[in-house]
Amino acid sequence: MQPRRIAADVVVIGAGVVGTGIARELSRYDVRVVLVEKQADVAFGTTKANTALVHAGYDAEPGTWKARLNVRGNALYPKTCADLGVAYKNCGSLVVAATENEAGYLHELKERGERNGVPGLEVIPREQVIELEPHVNPGVVAALWAPTGGITSPWELAIAYAENAVANGVELLLSAPVTGIGVRRGRAFSVRCPGVVMDARFVVNAAGIWADDIERMVGRDDFEITPRRGEYYLFDKRVGHLVSRPLFPVPAELSKGIVVTPTVDGNLIAGPNALLVGDKGDLSTTAVGLAEVLEGARRLVPGLPIRESITNFAGLRAVAAPIGDFIIGPSPGVPNFINAAGIQSPGLTAAPAIAEAVRDILADAGLALAEKPDFNSVRKRPTRFSELGPEEQSALIESDPLWGHIICRCETVPEAEIIEALHRPVSCTTLDGVKFRTRAGAGRCQGGFCGPRVVAIIHRELGISPEKVTKKGGASFILSGRTKDPLLERADECVDEREEVGGRAHCRV
Ligand SMILES: Cc1cc2nc3c(=O)[nH]c(=O)nc-3n(C[C@H](O)[C@H](O)[C@H](O)COP(=O)(O)OP(=O)(O)OC[C@H]3O[C@@H](n4cnc5c(N)ncnc54)[C@H](O)[C@@H]3O)c2cc1C
Repeated sequence: MQPRRIAADVVVIGAGVVGTGIARELSRYDVRVVLVEKQADVAFGTTKANTALVHAGYDAEPGTWKARLNVRGNALYPKTCADLGVAYKNCGSLVVAATENEAGYLHELKERGERNGVPGLEVIPREQVIELEPHVNPGVVAALWAPTGGITSPWELAIAYAENAVANGVELLLSAPVTGIGVRRGRAFSVRCPGVVMDARFVVNAAGIWADDIERMVGRDDFEITPRRGEYYLFDKRVGHLVSRPLFPVPAELSKGIVVTPTVDGNLIAGPNALLVGDKGDLSTTAVGLAEVLEGARRLVPGLPIRESITNFAGLRAVAAPIGDFIIGPSPGVPNFINAAGIQSPGLTAAPAIAEAVRDILADAGLALAEKPDFNSVRKRPTRFSELGPEEQSALIESDPLWGHIICRCETVPEAEIIEALHRPVSCTTLDGVKFRTRAGAGRCQGGFCGPRVVAIIHRELGISPEKVTKKGGASFILSGRTKDPLLERADECVDEREEVGGRAHCRV
């Protein structure tokens, strides 16, 4: 069978926070953009597993891409998140010094931050630190206060970028691995995925830890990415009050050190450690790694109760050698192939600024950028039942009883919210996709209660058989086959019940 052929001005490879941000930025202009992602959903790469901090920008070496784009990205966050309906909290951050020696280093960090253009940095004394963070290690000597630091939801941002890009005309292909790229004189490309060929004048490589493999497809080998794994503890909301803002130790050589931070959803995270791993698929957590994380976290917050940990996870940093900085720009000799590669921390913070930088590089390379008069920068935040007051909740339930049918009890997610998530502009077909959009399965029981119910709703709403529903695409099936399994029978009943509740499907599993 002939592959489907798509003509595009720009193909963006990789739908993490960087690729989706670039696609959304380009959707302001009258250009044909295709965003291609090999996984079943956006944000399933490094974007789903990091510390979720909006860094102030005092860490990076002045003059680097990292330094410039961190500070610019940080400044863009409030408006970006407001426009796109994404959770963001400007809570400030603290680098906590435990010794006089470390306290001396805080002044170096402050000076570096000021050279990077970070506003409002201040070294504050012990008493003030304890006033701000009563559960911090009482041995604290001083801290660097960064008022522009914050926290966000990385997957919410990538999903919102993608939805807004699609609403403004970008074509998004999911489960579409790029397997080869034909190049003509460095300025015209045929990007191949199974069943699809995209003819494009420009390619943007935003493939995260796989960006070196993508660059090799155009005959270049300018950098090599070795993933550096970071492991985490996620703690229950019950202990969310222990810290009010990210607490960093004085930075280590390989990373910013093990952090304790609240999340925008009210949990606490502790991590990450830093370990180079050879395998780009190695997202394992280890007893040794987690012990290191806990020890580091307790240096900042000694009372962190391990029994309140609800899960562990790991993320992979895209460490590019021989370049320590972000790699942003055309590949040598392939002028219309633009890398946005080696985007390790602070890549989440920098993402809105990386999108601007790549836009400008494309314009310099000859992409005509005429603004679209009908571009709509606003994407409304989907209704989150748990965020509403009692009156609003009652009104919703009155409008549709499925708003009162709670599927995820830990996070109070009703059936109607899951149905909405399954029918939004960027398709979502997996349990993790539902979790990232609604938080069903993100609570204390980690989907033990709601998982089977979500499978049944996906089956009913999207017509995917329960055995084919996956956790995160590929072969991550939830069920192994049809026996006399009551869940499968009930899932079928759900479809039958469609007529029971005023023509609306209602799952009673
Ligand atoms: C442990 C850790 C902690 C971090 N903490 C922070 C933090 O607190 N603050 C911060 O600012 N930054 C942080 N970062 C960095 C931040 O998470 C990353 O910079 C950011 O998520 C990178 O996004 P990305 O889009 O480049 O990569 P990804 O999210 O990995 O996206 C790349 C996408 O490309 C796709 N892809 C790959 N190959 C192909 C192919 N052949 N065809 C189609 N698609 C393909 C992948 O499936 C993937 O979805 C952290 C990173 C880690 C690992």
